[in-house]
Amino acid sequence: MKMQVECTIPKDDGSLATFVGFRIQHDNARGPMKGGIRYHPEVEPDEVNALAQLMTWKTAVANIPYGGAKGGIGCDPSELSVSELERLTRVFTQKIHDLIGVQTDVPAPDMGTGPQTMAWILDEYSKFHGHSPAVVTGKPIDLGGSLGRDAATGRGVLFATEALLKEHGKSVSGQRFVIQGFGNVGSWAAQLISEKGGIVVAVSDITGAIKNNNGLDIPSLLKHSRENRGVKGFHGGDAIDPMSILVEDCDVLVPAALGGVINRENANDIKAKFIVEAANHPTDPEADEILKKRGVVILPDIFANSGGVTVSYFEWVQNIQGFMWDEEKVNNELRTYMTKGFKDVKDMCKTHNCDLRMGAFTLAVNRVARATVLRGWEA
Ligand code: GLU
Repeated sequence: MKMQVECTIPKDDGSLATFVGFRIQHDNARGPMKGGIRYHPEVEPDEVNALAQLMTWKTAVANIPYGGAKGGIGCDPSELSVSELERLTRVFTQKIHDLIGVQTDVPAPDMGTGPQTMAWILDEYSKFHGHSPAVVTGKPIDLGGSLGRDAATGRGVLFATEALLKEHGKSVSGQRFVIQGFGNVGSWAAQLISEKGGIVVAVSDITGAIKNNNGLDIPSLLKHSRENRGVKGFHGGDAIDPMSILVEDCDVLVPAALGGVINRENANDIKAKFIVEAANHPTDPEADEILKKRGVVILPDIFANSGGVTVSYFEWVQNIQGFMWDEEKVNNELRTYMTKGFKDVKDMCKTHNCDLRMGAFTLAVNRVARATVLRGWEA
């Protein structure tokens, strides 16, 4: 099901503005469809469709009982006031409320959205269907959100990286990391990786890029970024060209921003031995081939960034149970899922003698296919 809606809101200055929103549901063989809602100028149907499909494979690799969906609104949230964002979110929810539901399709945050967006969706949805906290995940804690959900994608990236490096006889400690993107995923990944002794030598966001060969002081950079709305101007390193961050010297490259950033233009210049795809589809197929030939090991998005949706599942379970887990339980369960996920992917790679991306997709497609066949074909 593909839903496209026009959302018209009054701006703060009294003028009217119209934005186009989407919710695309890809597959529900394994359970309710699940996936984020993105607010970004580049949101368009083909991209949302591709991201919805990725969610089907991601939830299958994670082995959580969901299918896949994705949504978004083509807008620049940095140019909208908080009340304009609230009006836009409420109008969007009024248009899609019949499509989503606790057992049908459960949205969550993505790029440009967060717990407050989910709170508005929940409130608007509840006006039509009664209070149902499990209809969205990634909510504020006070409205039924899960402890540990905010950090979950970044923490999952850490657990996935630990599993990958262990397989190669290494640990996070002492490895040199470059992280592209310092939003929710990149900043949590940087923080947790540096707490484990990883040396984060460069990071970038939309405002700029910073490099320090001795390792950036991540707590200070986080403070700077919060206070200045970006990494630009941080004194604990040298400003570098954000375009060159992906080809900086490091052991592990973590793209944690937009899709398609690793491509034919830069794949030959990448120095990293490992790429951990914290973003969705950061590597295009041509670059994937080039990097494979060069022996670079890529941990694919549908596994590497599945920590977010996995803790979304824990949040949904807690809401349905009406019982709140402590943060230690959330993080321990997440570690269990990520470690098992890596083993399942790796087993598939051994069976089919293939790389990690092929192993992850084969695992996912097999699981979805089994569920589809078991449901049967009768009309
Ligand atoms: N937006 C995140 C993703 O791409 C999380 C989705 C969710 O929690 O449902 O995986």
